[in-house]
Amino acid sequence: MKEKQNRINRRNFLKTIGAAGLGSVFVSAQAIGSANKPDVIGPNARQKIQKPRYPLVPRRKLGKLTQLSKSGKKVPVEVPCLSFGTFRVDTENQILLRMALQYGIDFWDTAYNYSNGNSELGIGKFLSRHPKTRKKLFIASKASNTKTIADVEHRLQISLKRMNTNYIDLYYLHEIEETDRLNNELRDWAKHAKERGLIRFFGFTTHRNMAECLNAGAKLKWIDAIMTQYNFRQMQDKDLNVAIDACHKAGIALIAMKVHGKGQIKKIETEGDRKLTEHFLKRGFTKGQAKIKAVLTDERVCSACVGMQNVALLNSNVAAVLDKTKLTPEDMKVFKKVSQETCSGYCAGCAYICNSALPDMPYVSDVMRYLMYYNSYGEKKVARELFAQIPEQARDKLASTDYRAVEACCPQHLPIAKLMAEAVNKLA
Ligand code: SF4
Repeated sequence: MKEKQNRINRRNFLKTIGAAGLGSVFVSAQAIGSANKPDVIGPNARQKIQKPRYPLVPRRKLGKLTQLSKSGKKVPVEVPCLSFGTFRVDTENQILLRMALQYGIDFWDTAYNYSNGNSELGIGKFLSRHPKTRKKLFIASKASNTKTIADVEHRLQISLKRMNTNYIDLYYLHEIEETDRLNNELRDWAKHAKERGLIRFFGFTTHRNMAECLNAGAKLKWIDAIMTQYNFRQMQDKDLNVAIDACHKAGIALIAMKVHGKGQIKKIETEGDRKLTEHFLKRGFTKGQAKIKAVLTDERVCSACVGMQNVALLNSNVAAVLDKTKLTPEDMKVFKKVSQETCSGYCAGCAYICNSALPDMPYVSDVMRYLMYYNSYGEKKVARELFAQIPEQARDKLASTDYRAVEACCPQHLPIAKLMAEAVNKLA
């Protein structure tokens, strides 16, 4: 009976959200400004004064982070459980930012290097048109491609200018894979940036060696938040789960990225997706919606950051998180089975394994990620730009290197030599 009720609610919701999605195209900037009036300082702004015109995405506490309310009381920072990954948003995608905000998706994630700076410029364009929305937003950005503290400071200053804002809510050191980056120099810089009012919270993102990086972060009192790869595949990783637990216990906010778990080999991924589609359509979801719901079954995750490059995707993802149907143990078993069956098409980011097997070529996991962008996301330009950042000397050797030692120890059993050759062919 309950299941039937859920299905009915879901149908009604999809109808409602369809109408809202179309209607929003005609909503004025003034309506955005008045949609969610805050009762606290900062991005915890929830509608209290007016009834929302659109269904609002549920919110979760951002770890143990707090902020001051208007009355000076310490209150938890809350963010939508679905955050807006603006990796592919640029200055022309203003409608998406407007719509996201209407659904209460006020947590926007960008980075210094996304879309060659156009992602931050897009947010800047939005804020220059709607300056009053700044206090409703929780903006996260990242210091990309840094080697020194001076680089981190430089990236921050540029990001502030691009986004027309004088502070960033959450600032990450981007893509750490070795814990020596989390040193006292970085700690002091983060403290100073907070004192200057340029950032409110600080943390890091990690795509590789995630368990090691999270374990290191859990021990540091100055890390407020960590963005990590986390999806139905990585939910099976015991070491990563232990590390996530350590962060959660330490009160560090965890934001999941790459929640769709896309891999390098299209054929294998398509087969996995076919099985997920077969199962989850019977449950009333698309595979993409089910993947988001799977990550959010983990209460340790504060928000799932998902790239949404068009209105249909935004609506579909919002529908997934508004729907109250819970995934069952049987659903989770299907995810586990698909994850096992398709592991040879997915690089798990355990760079320490391939780097120790092949110390002279420490770029295998990077190349795997760029190939994933190319093959699974269709991000050919981005993949080529990232590939071009590999030092020329190493790039020249990628096709001729002997990868047998890495293939022998790769826990995912990836055909590394074949994939490296494919990457050189497509990305060089
Ligand atoms: S190629 Fe294999 S060993 Fe290297 S990071 Fe990917 S999954 Fe891990």
